[in-house]
Amino acid sequence: MGKACIGQQPVTMTDTANPLDAWTAGKLGLAGPTFRRADLHDHQLAALRASVAWAQQHSPFYRRHLAGIDANELRRIADLQRLPFTTTDDLRRHDPPLLAVSQSAISHVVSLETSGTSGPPKRLYFTPEEQAATRDFFAHGMRLPARPGDRVAILFPGARPGSVGDLLAAALEDLGATPILAGWPADPAATAALLRRERPDVVAGAPVATLAVARHSAAGGQAPLAVRSVLLSADHVAGSLRRSLAELWGCEIFEHYGMTEMGLGGGVDCAAHAGYHLREHELLVEIVDPASGAPVLPGQPGEVVFTTLQRRGLPLLRYRTGDLSRLLPGTCACGSPLARLARLSGRLGAGVDLGDGRRLTIADLDEALFALPGIIDFTATFQSGPPPALHLAVSYLAGRGSPTAIRAALADSPALPSGLPLTLTLSSAGRLHGRSGKRTILEAARP
Ligand SMILES: [Zn+2]
Repeated sequence: MGKACIGQQPVTMTDTANPLDAWTAGKLGLAGPTFRRADLHDHQLAALRASVAWAQQHSPFYRRHLAGIDANELRRIADLQRLPFTTTDDLRRHDPPLLAVSQSAISHVVSLETSGTSGPPKRLYFTPEEQAATRDFFAHGMRLPARPGDRVAILFPGARPGSVGDLLAAALEDLGATPILAGWPADPAATAALLRRERPDVVAGAPVATLAVARHSAAGGQAPLAVRSVLLSADHVAGSLRRSLAELWGCEIFEHYGMTEMGLGGGVDCAAHAGYHLREHELLVEIVDPASGAPVLPGQPGEVVFTTLQRRGLPLLRYRTGDLSRLLPGTCACGSPLARLARLSGRLGAGVDLGDGRRLTIADLDEALFALPGIIDFTATFQSGPPPALHLAVSYLAGRGSPTAIRAALADSPALPSGLPLTLTLSSAGRLHGRSGKRTILEAARP
């Protein structure tokens, strides 16, 4: 009897196969173009045990946090549920330290301030190997929107070594593309002019910043830029923003999900655009009930929790992200065995309390406002009542902003109660308000 078991052989992939499959197979020590879930689970379980043991031995925080846990007693992935969660507060407090290597082994530190929160920022620490692993994920994940030979404009900050723009530029060189590191488009008109000169095939950027550049690139009746595909990351993507961008550039839009805590890279959608294919050999993703912490049934929504499987600098075991999503059932149309995370449905506790039992989020405002063709950016400040009031500072393309249109778009939004007092400040400078990262509704103190 031959050893081959035909029934378990992976389906032969066509040239539309997901490039992350062969990459993941290679990381599992397999030669094939893809892998089986059983192979991945074996790897994840072994890596989980090693991560738990490493954290207990080397991280002062996890030595205490995981007291009484025996890594060798983890016999299946589901045994992960015996581990307590790690929270944002644990990370922010950093006492005892989570760090599991000496400071001299760290090559990159990121401090994350959280708006509306006082106290120390979250600090994430990465070793050179972990930075290289992220670059490697980018180099393979970017094969979904980009191809060798492409020119790829990067609209993320990239001046600092190890920053997202810097890693992405290096990754694009790895895959044989030419990076054009435009950096954060603080002046989107200038970045639009740069893109007009450089003629990129692909653009990667944060959603609002990328739409701002696209709108400036088409302002004043200029011929539209021909961009084949766009990769959006770093913040939620409103449907209205996605539609506007696709129409302006005639591009296919890919989305990436990740956060600094994940080592920047988490998952990316394929040409089927049916969920983010996860970086599963390095991240174990669970969905839990936010209230009870218990795992939800397969396919049900809840809070995204992840465990790093390879990180030795600052491992995170069962880290609660606060993001709400679900793992999609079934196999993707691309045939990949990689699990898929659905587009986020929101964030825990996000938004402001309207006082009538409803909450208003920045995503609600994005949906309403980016449907208007002249909007570049806005900030929203909410004052709780009674009565509550909302103030919007809106940046728009010269000649394309109208308070009447903005008020009408908000009046049509099902998320805003009619009669909510609204004040507007308009600027025709067409600039971005914020730096890169997640946007939010600010809360003003009551006078
Ligand atoms: Zn797919």
